[in-house]
Order: sequence, then structure tokens, then C-alpha cells
Amino acid sequence: MTVNVDVQTFPLFINGQWEQGASQETFDVFNPATGELAARVTKGNAADVDRAVEAARNAFDNTEWKHMKPKERSKVLYAISYAIAEHAQELVYLESISSGGTVRRISSNDILQMVDLFQTLAKFTLEYPFSETLPSPPFPGPAHNFIWREPIGVCAAITPWNMPMLIAVWKIAPALAMGNTIVIKPASYTPLSTLKLAEIISKVVPPGVINVVTGPGAEVGEALVSHPKVDKVAFTGSTEVGRNVMQLAAGTIKNVTLELGGKSPNIILEDADLSLALPGSLFGVFLHSGQLCESGTRLFVPDYLHDVIVDGLVKLAAKIKPGNPLDPATDVGPVISKRQKETILSYIEAGKQEGATLVCGGKELKVPGCEEGHFIEPTIFTNVTNDMKIAKEEIFGPVLSVIRYKTVEEAVQMANDSIYGLAAGVWTRDVNKAYEVARKLQAGVVWINDWHMLRNDAPFGGYKQSGIGREMGMHSLDAYTQVKHVHTSMVSEIQKRSWYGLLFSDTNE
Ligand code: NAD
Repeated sequence: MTVNVDVQTFPLFINGQWEQGASQETFDVFNPATGELAARVTKGNAADVDRAVEAARNAFDNTEWKHMKPKERSKVLYAISYAIAEHAQELVYLESISSGGTVRRISSNDILQMVDLFQTLAKFTLEYPFSETLPSPPFPGPAHNFIWREPIGVCAAITPWNMPMLIAVWKIAPALAMGNTIVIKPASYTPLSTLKLAEIISKVVPPGVINVVTGPGAEVGEALVSHPKVDKVAFTGSTEVGRNVMQLAAGTIKNVTLELGGKSPNIILEDADLSLALPGSLFGVFLHSGQLCESGTRLFVPDYLHDVIVDGLVKLAAKIKPGNPLDPATDVGPVISKRQKETILSYIEAGKQEGATLVCGGKELKVPGCEEGHFIEPTIFTNVTNDMKIAKEEIFGPVLSVIRYKTVEEAVQMANDSIYGLAAGVWTRDVNKAYEVARKLQAGVVWINDWHMLRNDAPFGGYKQSGIGREMGMHSLDAYTQVKHVHTSMVSEIQKRSWYGLLFSDTNE
């Protein structure tokens, strides 16, 4: 492993400036493709969380930030989008060297989505019903009634390592659009792009509106989630940690949004166009080496088409080029860490032990020039049954389980037989059949003849143990507001306030 001696050290980002951590300690961030040290980052602790929350609290409670008119706020969101576009190259680089995502994907997808989300919410902010007037009711008497939507306050965002920058923006954009302030704790494998993003955004918003505290989940994450001055928690990560986050947030009854794990079913129907369904299904599972929460990891195929489909999948999988993610020609990069690689390999072993047939991949991969990287071959198992470990648990790696079905009803039943419900897909030429199946699938998003098609104007989130709440779209704005009902009585004579009779039998002097 090569160690770069003049590697950059990132402080915390608090109250609009770079700040040293209370402990003066740092931790190392490695490039998962090469094993090289990418940067050193401050190991924050509970005292740092206190400082960041105080800064966010002050910016929320004592500045004009939350009172900004929608027109002004919309301009701020546009300004952030332009600033991100201006710094795209640096952000793409930091994201790639820490997450292992390919520059091809990050620069053409993630950055555009980030810019577009700020612009989409800038438009939505102008249309958002911050104040609604209700019709004056005949009973109990004339009154003006409003519903006001107000920011929640200080938001804590906890993000995972797979697409750290985009997932942070899914939280930052709606939080800021609605006038909240935010403290982000990125995953320790991938804090670099989030720190840079905070610096970029802070040039456009008042100090304290955006803050980042890096450090261990068990210390920094828990301190944030249980902090009495934090009003909302937006968490993306595993279902296991999400459960813990929810419990900790319950201590002070915080508003909680959880975006958790998945084991998404992908159903190829008999009449599907296989020239689309096969590459589409591999796109659905192997993009970013399978490290996407909504990856289509369980592929249900009609029994009699099984061999044709598997044959086609294996041939196509062989075309996927692993490599250094900084090379635009690379199709897939590494998995995030040695530990994750070992976890994935242990799942592959479990698949073999349980009797599934390995038809493609299954091994660690040595990529020339990236010998210390953590690569795994795109892996396909057939003869998988829905009760096997590889079909039940989230692997978060490039492993596809192919499961046979005899009837569509059976496919749907197996698809739904999971604790997760994040995404699902169906491939067919018959749109009516597609909608019929989509209605039955228990998932927050259903793709018909496609995969990974998230939109900034559409909600994303999970059914069942895949989460609570939605990100993106108008729904995300609702998730960062609380509603207030304001009643103004228009009845000035006490005799006409008949409802006071509920307490006073006599309202005359
Ligand atoms: P993780 O749950 O291990 O960690 C997520 C974040 O939580 C990290 O920042 C981590 O430091 C922090 N954390 C860890 N312990 C904590 C604690 N006790 N209290 C508070 N915070 C704590 O997840 P990961 O391994 O980083 O990411 C992979 C997981 O994320 C997968 O399960 C994947 O499905 C999920 N994910 C979900 C979505 C979605 O939108 N639903 C998107 C991406 C990833």
C-alpha cells in the first residue's frame, strides 16, 4: 500500500468555518480501489456535536433564516445548485476516491441529480402551500382558519457510504428549502465530499445553517440522534442501525425519517422483451457493484424461460469491465472495504452451502493497477429459493439470486415475502398486466421495464422495514415541515358563542 505523506486533513465544518475537533484526533479514509490513504478526517465526539447543534440552533432560533420569503429562498436554492455545478469536478473526485463510485456515474448522474434537486425544490418552494385558508364553517360559528406549514428546526442527517454526496443532498435540499438548519454526520468511509459540499453551500447560506461532524456512528451519530436540541432525524443506512436510531430519537420524541435496506424483487414476465429485460436486470443489480439500496437483487423468472435468461445474463455479465473508478472507461469499481468484501464473500459461500448454483463470478477480483483494491466479480446464483440466506438478507454487493416461478401469483407472493419493501420491478410488453402486478407489489417504487429510475419530483422511500417517510419531491418538503392550525373567532358577542354552553349553563351577567 502506498501512503501519501502530504495527504489532506479535513477538520469539522461548524458555523460556516473549518473547526478543530475537541479531541484533536483524526481517522484515515482509504481509497477502496487502491488501498491508498485518501485523506485524514477529524474524529469528532459528543462535545463537537454540542458545538454543531448550538450553531444550528442559533441559526434557526436567532436569525432571519427561517422567516425568509419563498421567493428569496428559491433564489438561495438556485444559487446552491450553481455553486455545486461550479465545483463539480472536485466533488466528483472526492466522492470517487472515497466511495469507489465510477467518475462516469458520479459526474453524469449524481452531480446532475444534485443540481436538479436544488432547482426542482427551488420551483416547488414557490408553489408550496405555506399557508392555506380553510372555508369558514357554519358550525360552531364564523371564524378564519389557517393551516400554516413551518420548519421543524434543527435537523440531524446521518448518511451511508454508498452514494454519500447524493444521499446527503436528499436531506440538505428539502431541509434548507423549508427553512430548517442541519447537522450532518457522514459515514466514516466517505466523509470527504460531504465536508466539501458543506463548505460550498455555506458560501450561500448564513453561518450555522449547515454543519458537518465526522466520527464514529456509535459516538457522533448517537450523540446527534439523542441530542435534546435536535428536532428531526433523517437517517439513511441499514435497517439494524435505523432501528437503534428510532429508539434513541424516541427519548425526546423527534420527528424521524428512515431510509433503510432492501432486497428488491425483479419479475420478468413470460412476454417480456428479453433484449431489454436482461441488460436492464443486470443494470438493476450490478451498478455500483451492487451497493445500492434499491438494487434488484432477487430476479424471478418463468420456469420455462429460466435457461435462456440465465444464459443471456451470464454472457452480458462477462462484458462488465471492473477497474479504477477514476478511469472513465471503468464500468464497476470496488466494494467499499476489505470488511465489506469479506461479508459479501461469506454470503457467496452461504449460497453455495445452501445448494444454490453459482453460474457466474463468486470470487475476489484482482484488477491490474488496483491490486490492493476490494473488487468482487459480478456474481449470479441460480436454483435459489426465496428462503435461502442470499435471497432473504441484504448483501450490499454484486450478487444476483435467480429464482424460478410457475405462475405470476407465485412470483408476486415470493416478491412480497420479505421484511423489506424498497423497490420492485416488472418486465412485460403488456402494460395492463404490468399495472396489475405493480398494484400487488409491496414497495415504495415499482419500475416497469426499467430500473434505478428515481426522479427528483417523485417520492422515494420504503414500505415495511425499508423505512418511514419519503425523500425527494413535494413529499420531502412535507417531511421537513410541521403544521399549525390557527383559528381566529369572528363571533364577538358572547351570547352567540353557543359552544361556551358546554361549560357555562348561564353566560348572562
Ligand atoms: P449503516 O447503517 O452501517 O451506517 C449508516 C450511518 O449510520 C453511518 O453514517 C454510520 O456511521 C451511522 N451509524 C452507525 N451506528 C450508528 C448509531 N449507533 N447511531 C447513529 N448512527 C450510527 O449503513 P452503511 O453500511 O453505511 O450503508 C449501507 C446501508 O444503507 C444498506 O443497508 C443500504 O440498503 C442502506 N441504504 C439505504 C438507502 C435508502 O434510501 N433506503 C440508500 C442508501 C443506503
